[in-house]
Amino acid sequence: MTTDEDRDRLAEQLVALPVYELVDVLRRVLPHHSQDRYGIRTELVLAEATDYEDEPGLEVQLVAWPDRDYYDGDLGIDQGLWENGHCTKCDTEVVSNAKRAFCPYCGSRCGLT
Ligand SMILES: [Zn+2]
Repeated sequence: MTTDEDRDRLAEQLVALPVYELVDVLRRVLPHHSQDRYGIRTELVLAEATDYEDEPGLEVQLVAWPDRDYYDGDLGIDQGLWENGHCTKCDTEVVSNAKRAFCPYCGSRCGLT
C-alpha cells in the first residue's frame, strides 16, 4: 500500500512528461489491469474526450499506443494527440501522436492521419 505522498510524487513525475511520453508510461501500466471473467474481457485504456460546442454529447476516442518498431524504438512525433484513425477490428475511433499505432483494446495495427 502506498501513501498519499507516494502517489503525489508519482503524479508530479507524470505531470511533468509530454503527452507522448505519458502515453508510453501508461502503455506499460494499464494492460496489467485487464480482466477476463465469465467471457467478458475488460481493458483499462486511456481515452480522449472532446466536447464540440455545436454537437450534443462527448466524442470519446481511445488513445492508441505508438508502433515503436515502426519508429525504430522511438515514440513517434512529439506532438499532441493529433492523429486520428479507426480500429477496424473493434470498430472504434483512436487517436495518437503517431501515424502508426496499435489499438489499446485489441492490439490491431491502426493507420492514423
Ligand atoms: Zn481494436
